[in-house]
Amino acid sequence: MSPTPTITTASLDDAPFYLDPAVGDLIIRSSDCVDLHVHKDIMTHASPVFSSMLSLPQPKSHSPGDDFCDKPLVDVHEDSAVWSHLIPICYIPCLPSPPLSASDLDLIRAVLDAARKYQMVSVTNVMRRVLVTRPVVLQKPVSVYAVGCVYGLEDVARVAAWSSLSEPLFVEYVPELDLISVRTFHRLSEYRTRCVAAALKVTAPAGRWENVNERLLRIGSGSGCFSQDGCQIVGRVGTSTLYRRCWATYVEKLERILEQTPDAAKARSAVLLEPVIQSAQYCHVCLKTIHANVDAASTGLEKMLKEAIKEVVLEF
Ligand SMILES: [Zn+2]
Repeated sequence: MSPTPTITTASLDDAPFYLDPAVGDLIIRSSDCVDLHVHKDIMTHASPVFSSMLSLPQPKSHSPGDDFCDKPLVDVHEDSAVWSHLIPICYIPCLPSPPLSASDLDLIRAVLDAARKYQMVSVTNVMRRVLVTRPVVLQKPVSVYAVGCVYGLEDVARVAAWSSLSEPLFVEYVPELDLISVRTFHRLSEYRTRCVAAALKVTAPAGRWENVNERLLRIGSGSGCFSQDGCQIVGRVGTSTLYRRCWATYVEKLERILEQTPDAAKARSAVLLEPVIQSAQYCHVCLKTIHANVDAASTGLEKMLKEAIKEVVLEF
């Protein structure tokens, strides 16, 4: 009996090439009975498993009324959704179009499983690139970390671990955590702890940020400054540097945030910077410089934090 294709397309023009029976010299029949028409030499080039399989005689397809039934037929265990990603990559190893998203992680795993089974290196490499695309890794960094570890994609796991820093670690359970051992999860947690330490070293009293920005942080105490409350300068425990009060508050709040989320971009968060700018609104002297100072000090801090956190290596 003729298989019933489950891949549907709006029009024949939009149909992928492998659904056209006139294409190729080999049929791959998916587990949901879709016949996929491909070229033997492409498949053998992409997959050593196909290469050895096709070196043996294969059964011919038997679709009544099919003019192309002399093609050999290979039954596979994966469904057409998986093969619709495998086949184009075997032809041209580029990112899928339309792009895969974070909600496609189960499909990405199925494609990686198939790539492993058929030894399709080009497919694994494309999925590796898919996993670190921003819409995927930024949306589900912990899930991508788990997938990266399970499939031995250390580069993916590293990007995902880095991407996870912008959110607290224990916010929500993700099913991909079931794929990894407690030890592998602990590795992520331990990496983040070291990132926190690296970040706090930058912001610490007498730390790098303070040293570089010493003059800038106490600005407001100069001549002509109204020295109202916002312009007062204060000391921080552990340092002789004097801070404009609002900068001292800023850095202390930032440190509490970095303890949970060691993400350099937090240094530029509006919630933290707005009070610094507001502090100068009643002082015509500081008002002239506050925007430039806030920009310089926070941009500089973001850069320093990024450099310090990048030095931290995820161990395998
Ligand atoms: Zn002032």
